[in-house]
Amino acid sequence: MPLAPYSQDYSLFYENCVQCVEKSLKAPCVLACDEVYNKENSGILYFNENCVVVDFSTKGCLLCGECAKSCPNDVLDKNLAEERNPNWNFSVKISETSCLAHQKILCNTCKDVCYSVLGKENAIKFVRLFYPEIKESCISCGECVSKCPTQAILLFEKERKEL
Ligand code: SF4
Ligand code: SF4
Ligand code: SF4
Ligand code: SF4
Repeated sequence: MPLAPYSQDYSLFYENCVQCVEKSLKAPCVLACDEVYNKENSGILYFNENCVVVDFSTKGCLLCGECAKSCPNDVLDKNLAEERNPNWNFSVKISETSCLAHQKILCNTCKDVCYSVLGKENAIKFVRLFYPEIKESCISCGECVSKCPTQAILLFEKERKEL
């Protein structure tokens, strides 16, 4: 599952999130993210079984850090949020079979939206017009995931970190 950002230790999601939610109807991190996106009334975090996960189906993460600031159990690390290091448990990849450009249909949508929210350098480059590649500078913000017309940008879980 794509876990919420800013975790030093992914196992904390499964150990400590439940305790937080027992005390409130909606988890503080979910509420904080809802407030960030208040114009649309819903954030990108939600509770799934016993931990908080991210949903990029409508928009990406702004790396604003508000979810981490609100976390009472330090599941989301405030220092990582300060550094704007989401440390996601997944990375983003383009499926060549689903991508329009790979089928020789002109499409630049992912490149156009990449970092448009965060205003930094573009992390998608096109090789010979039809071959989009995601560069190492990608921060997996998910903005392109929600905008790709064929849902060709997929999340792949990273291996769990040894601590
Ligand atoms: S605020 Fe922290 S402990 Fe509570 S659900 Fe979110 S990540 Fe888990
Ligand atoms: S960093 Fe901001 S936009 Fe991203 S999940 Fe946390 S509150 Fe939501
Ligand atoms: S937006 Fe989607 S379909 Fe278009 S080039 Fe990017 S990955 Fe391919
Ligand atoms: S997930 Fe990566 S490639 Fe996609 S918009 Fe964000 S930084 Fe760019």
